[in-house]
Amino acid sequence: MTDVKLKLPIYMDNHATTPVDPRVLDAMLPYFTQVFGNAASRSHSFGWTAEKAVEAARDQVGALIGASGKEIVWTSGATESDNLAIKGAAEFLKDRGNHIITAQTEHKAVLDTCKRLEKEGFEVTYLPVGKDGRVSAESVRAAMTDKTTVVSIMLANNEIGTVNPVNEIGAVVKEKGAVFHVDAVQGAGKMTVDFHGLGVDYLSLSAHKFGGPTGVGALIVRDGAPLLADRRGGGQERYRRAGTENVAGIAGFGVAAEAAMAGLNVTALRDRLEAELRRIAPDAVVYGGAAVRLGNTTCISMPGVKAETQVMALDLAGICVSAGAACSSGKVGASAVLAAMGVPVDEAATAIRVSLGWNTAADDIERLIAAWRDLYVRVAHSDISHAQAA
Ligand SMILES: *Cc1c(COP(=O)(O)O)cnc(C)c1O
Repeated sequence: MTDVKLKLPIYMDNHATTPVDPRVLDAMLPYFTQVFGNAASRSHSFGWTAEKAVEAARDQVGALIGASGKEIVWTSGATESDNLAIKGAAEFLKDRGNHIITAQTEHKAVLDTCKRLEKEGFEVTYLPVGKDGRVSAESVRAAMTDKTTVVSIMLANNEIGTVNPVNEIGAVVKEKGAVFHVDAVQGAGKMTVDFHGLGVDYLSLSAHKFGGPTGVGALIVRDGAPLLADRRGGGQERYRRAGTENVAGIAGFGVAAEAAMAGLNVTALRDRLEAELRRIAPDAVVYGGAAVRLGNTTCISMPGVKAETQVMALDLAGICVSAGAACSSGKVGASAVLAAMGVPVDEAATAIRVSLGWNTAADDIERLIAAWRDLYVRVAHSDISHAQAA
């Protein structure tokens, strides 16, 4: 029914978004047509059916990250979740203090929320990271003051895939009596996430980063964690987020979460890709390569060749990758993440991001290797003997 066969380019930009899993689409469709009720309508079966779908998805998403259904607040995506957690906690706790801690490598949804709060009188510390791109628990501890109320540190980085020691950071935050928000968008479905085990108060998720639709996300709020609602209106989501629930999207999110329980088994493909690219260009750098990181991500430089040139050449070869975070595009080459790691600007401008997904095939990797090799030989190092010797 929805099986449109087109010859599409190879997509390897799964940190920007992922294709919707066919099972997800099938689960969503009835909620647009046959059972289109408002989940808050209590007077007829359309409403009850919609509510049942929303509640079933709560269990499915909760199971993925070890939270209970009632801790889930549906949102329009992780941007809203990040805004709601940080603003909602900081404003609720502002009589206790006005200091927020985050990191320079966070997603824009976190950084820009913090910048906005600075305009409103909050003070924000943007922690630097180590050469491996990770935030240390010691740096969080050193930044904490009596006025610190909120700490927001992501689980896995969207540009380089490095994983922060969130459990250690959570212990420090708890010891100091602050609350802890974790943007887990890129970790969920790719690594085990245990909401309660991590000592986290708020956790952001987005459906479209693991086979779900865009426009739906969740903020997981620990039972009893402070939160000032931002949107006002109906009493949906136990007064934590007003607005009619996106029933079809939520149903799809639930099925995507269930499918994501199986994990993403692409580490061997990613490792082969990196090994081959490093063989072609021994002076290429894999950023965060020695750190704990996601198995689907490669951020690698081609010395002397601008990222845009690589992205265009790969596009001509029918392969889609990116020159960094999609959300910061338009400013290609200005990766704040690589800058925070101490990578020189000129070198950072030669780094591309390859992010594999559930539909990446071994053959796709071979095509990428071949196209990258062609470019390297042609543009960067036209001295063929050098390339062959490598
Ligand atoms: C994509 C992404 C977001 C934003 O999610 P949306 O659902 O697209 O708003 C937030 N944080 C990280 C780490 C992301 O990769």
